[in-house]
Amino acid sequence: MLLEIDNITLLYGRIQALHGISLQVDEGEIVALIGANGAGKSTTMRAVSGLRPIASGQIRFAGQDITNMRADLRVIRGISQAPEGRGIFPGMTVQENLDMGAYTRRDRAGIQADLKRVFELFPRLSERRKQAGGTLSGGEQQMLAVGRALMSRPKLMLLDEPSMGLAPMLIQQIFSIITEINQQGTTILLVEQNAQQALSRAHRAYVLETGRIVKSGTGEELLRDSSVKDAYLGVA
Ligand code: ATP
Repeated sequence: MLLEIDNITLLYGRIQALHGISLQVDEGEIVALIGANGAGKSTTMRAVSGLRPIASGQIRFAGQDITNMRADLRVIRGISQAPEGRGIFPGMTVQENLDMGAYTRRDRAGIQADLKRVFELFPRLSERRKQAGGTLSGGEQQMLAVGRALMSRPKLMLLDEPSMGLAPMLIQQIFSIITEINQQGTTILLVEQNAQQALSRAHRAYVLETGRIVKSGTGEELLRDSSVKDAYLGVA
């Protein structure tokens, strides 16, 4: 297993956001977390990236206990997060944003190769490399966030709502790119409101409700599951 989350709990002050979450992500997988607003999906991601400390439980990555490891050291280990709400640097150019993604690296040739790869995946970013991030369209900013996360050459990429706010055509496009990134060797843990797309792209998925996992299975199984259909797929 690349990522193993074992019975974690997490508090925001007196609010308990996670009540004993356990999940695994195997190398090469796309795993999706789905669930309603406030279910704890983003919080689970923050626990993995180290942006928020957990109260109990354990997180292991590539066989190592990272439960108490600093967020920046987790990036060096190979975990990279493209945050919800884009989270790019608006005053910096596209190129500078991508350079920031590689700040933990020293292998110049490798960085250049990855930059080329990001521009191949996202030709729009190449066209706009000298433009300030903040002047890009919403969809382009989303792509920049994914591109920046790729620049750390992660083993595990955490994607929080990559389709948020995108037009239907762009949603298809971003999911195709996510599949491509995965096929090129990056393991992906994905949080999505768009359960239909997430389940059709993911190898496996977990359903969260109020800080607990209530169901898990392959993407296909969950797409066919009647309670998942009722609650998250908008079909009776
Ligand atoms: P969404 O899709 O709306 O982001 P989510 O499933 O990602 O939903 P979380 O954002 O993880 O849900 O929130 C889980 C719970 O923790 C919610 O009850 C939320 O109100 C609470 N919460 C999240 N962030 C904070 C915070 N910074 N301070 C206090 N409570 C928070």
